Amino acid sequence: MGLQEYFAQLSRGVDLVAECSGLSAPDLEKMGASTQDAAELIGLHAIYFGPTPYTGKQRSAIDAARRNGHCLSTLHHIESFTRRAQGRLATWNLRVELCSTPGEHVTAVARRRLREMRVPREYCERAMLRQHPNGLATLTVTGNGLDMADAFRTIDHKRPGESFVARMLGKAGAAPAGRTRVTTMAVLQLEDYGKLVRRERDDVMVRTTSGVVVTGAQLVERACAGEGLITVISRAQGAVDLYRFDRFASLKQRTMLAAEHPTCAWPGCNTPAERGQFHHLTPWKHGGETNVANLVTLCNYHNGVNDDDPNAPPRRGRLTREGGKIIWQPPPGDKVSG
Ligand SMILES: [Zn+2]
Repeated sequence: MGLQEYFAQLSRGVDLVAECSGLSAPDLEKMGASTQDAAELIGLHAIYFGPTPYTGKQRSAIDAARRNGHCLSTLHHIESFTRRAQGRLATWNLRVELCSTPGEHVTAVARRRLREMRVPREYCERAMLRQHPNGLATLTVTGNGLDMADAFRTIDHKRPGESFVARMLGKAGAAPAGRTRVTTMAVLQLEDYGKLVRRERDDVMVRTTSGVVVTGAQLVERACAGEGLITVISRAQGAVDLYRFDRFASLKQRTMLAAEHPTCAWPGCNTPAERGQFHHLTPWKHGGETNVANLVTLCNYHNGVNDDDPNAPPRRGRLTREGGKIIWQPPPGDKVSG
């Protein structure tokens, strides 16, 4: 057989498979096939010409393989991928698709499709260690998303193994494990940590910069463990809070508000918050809620002069929240503050 004839035969792999009808592997070996070739041919014959509930797909696969001139080794290569599909239908769908794919693209298409078919894994807490022949080892730990993100951040990526172990085992050069407890007020700018996803019944959901979705409470707890009192303020939305309270601001709210405005929020006034009052931007009697978004620190004087009632004649202007910030709205026709 000349080369030309050989190549012509090669391109009709599925027809060669068809010729195995009624033959067994030993029959093929008697005809001169190697043990491996015989086994492969019989295997392919069972797939392409054996009984299956998916006769339509079987026919499509044969036609497509013929059209693309897939040789025996390509058909065999295709099976190395279809083996990894879950279930007979998915296996057939993948086989038909790969038979319909030009030989040089089979691998790329198969990998992409298998990746798409992969069922999302159910993760649970665990730890794994793999030792490598060169003396290194890989430690894989699955745990709380926030803790893991925190732990990951502490790794020095120039020397990840060394820095990680130093922290874990408390070797020299690591930061002290227990931080000094100080009671300070910290203002947490939400945007530095993530994005407000949605408000839920009694908290806010925040997508952190590491992609983990947490509640506002968790975020504060994480970001500020041991830091004392915290308030979360969004640059876009002002103090982030969803709690409904009664007429008077709670201690927690006062704390948050004082963090946002350590002094009276009226322009130019420096009276400290602890000597002031908490003012409803939309008055309580007009339906304004006692939540942080509707409250602001004002000194007694400015609380008194603020034009609370939108229906009353304007006098000194009023404070309002706009884009997350407290601004002073002058009375109509007036340009002077104070
Ligand atoms: Zn004031």
